[in-house]
Order: sequence, then C-alpha cells, then structure tokens
Amino acid sequence: MKRNQIVFVDMDDVLCDFMGSYKAHVKRYPEMKYPQAQIDFFRNLEPLKGAVEAFRKLSELKDTEVYILSAPSEHNPLSYMEKRIWVENHLGFEAVKKLILSPNKALLKGDYLIDDYTEGKGQENFEGKLINFGSDEFPDWDSVLKYFSL
Ligand SMILES: [Mg+2]
Repeated sequence: MKRNQIVFVDMDDVLCDFMGSYKAHVKRYPEMKYPQAQIDFFRNLEPLKGAVEAFRKLSELKDTEVYILSAPSEHNPLSYMEKRIWVENHLGFEAVKKLILSPNKALLKGDYLIDDYTEGKGQENFEGKLINFGSDEFPDWDSVLKYFSL
C-alpha cells in the first residue's frame, strides 16, 4: 500500500519571524546573552509573510501529511510550551496534533523538510529532500508553493 507523502515544516524563520524579534530584543536588552530566553519570546513571534496560508494549502494537498518540526530552544525551557501555544494561535488546534519538537531532525522519516538551516539540527542527515527556505531557489513561501504545484 502506498503511504502518504510526509512534509515537515520548520518554525523559526520559516513559519514565524524569529530573527526580526531577536534583533529587536538585542536592541532592547543589550545586556542579555540570549534574548530568546525572555518569557513570551516564542509565543509572541509574528508569522512570516504568507506562512499561515501556505501551511493551510500544504495541509490540503492530496495524500500528504504536514508536520511542524522544530528544535526547541536550549536557552529557554518555555519554548516547549510557547511553540505549542503559537501553533494553536496561528495555525489552529488541529495543527497542534502535528507539532514535533526534536533537537535532531534527521530522526524523523519523511519526504520533505522545509527549513532555513541546512545543518546544525540534523538537517544535513535528513533522508528526504531539504527545501532550504530563504535560499536563492526558495526565497519565500510563493516559491515553495510553486514547487508543490500550488
Ligand atoms: Mg529555523
């Protein structure tokens, strides 16, 4: 029997604007070594342009299961909870059931990983195709959706 294709979508700087908030926090709290360790940091990230709509479109693809695959922040234990809250707030409760937090993304079996990093959290050993979000080939969500013929 043919199995569904599996698509993993990263959170920071793919679904939500980590870098924008990080830079704002560095300015505001220059003495903090890890600005992302602040309470509410992960909960309050803004969605990236087109991300919410793109996630919905990908999730509606035939014979496809879309999961959110994010590495937790080792500098902020609240990140485990706040990522979960972010997903519910922006993608809806159903998406909560698709949230995976793993420090090593290569442990997950799937066909595609949409991620802004090509290494560091197991991306380099991911067995499927890495769609490098933010690269020349996939600069934004429009280009990713086009790749999936959406
Ligand atoms: Mg990321």
